[in-house]
Amino acid sequence: MARSYVAEARRRVGPKKERIGPIVERLAAEHADAAIALRFRSPLELLVSVLLSAQTTDVNVNRVTERLFEKYRRPEDYLAVPQAELERDVYATGFYRQKAKALRGTMRLLLEEFDGEVPRRLDELMRLPGVARKTANVVAAELGEAQGVVVDTHVRRLSQRLGLTRQEDPVKIERDLVRLVPRADWGRFPHLLIWHGRRVCDARRPRCENCVLMDLCPSARV
Ligand code: SF4
Repeated sequence: MARSYVAEARRRVGPKKERIGPIVERLAAEHADAAIALRFRSPLELLVSVLLSAQTTDVNVNRVTERLFEKYRRPEDYLAVPQAELERDVYATGFYRQKAKALRGTMRLLLEEFDGEVPRRLDELMRLPGVARKTANVVAAELGEAQGVVVDTHVRRLSQRLGLTRQEDPVKIERDLVRLVPRADWGRFPHLLIWHGRRVCDARRPRCENCVLMDLCPSARV
């Protein structure tokens, strides 16, 4: 019964390859302001902000980095203070020990192998301590060189609800999305889903009646 209902819903909306264009277009019109909420002025500040954003909110990170970036301007600055001092300076973002350690390891490698510059390639970014695939994808996309699609909790939920993937694992979801979403949209697509997820397609209570994707979504409560 449930299965035939899902099949019927998928038939109603049509194949995902035909829906992806209008989905991106409508979300872009609806959330023209969708962008990363972290504040940064350079690739290095971007990298630090994304590293600090694990397990906390962007608002909290911005509060901490406002002072942090006055004190730490170059990779060398993160290595010039004792570990305990850096831990205190990032304390309010949580997991401060691991984060301070990752920051120092990252800065060391940036200096040793990348002339102190933030690399643009995903495989190079992923060599930095504490930089997993999602972090690397976020940094690359913000630097205008998206090489994949960021999958966070909103992207995962919305991709599933929209019938763009049947996978649960973020790496497999990303694999489905890069096949489907035009490359030029890899950078903005996650932001669109994240903002739509926050504003309309809530985890517990999706507001389908106010959703611009209602006729394109197999999960719409019609
Ligand atoms: S129609 Fe409902 S379930 Fe589908 S994307 Fe919109 S809010 Fe989410």
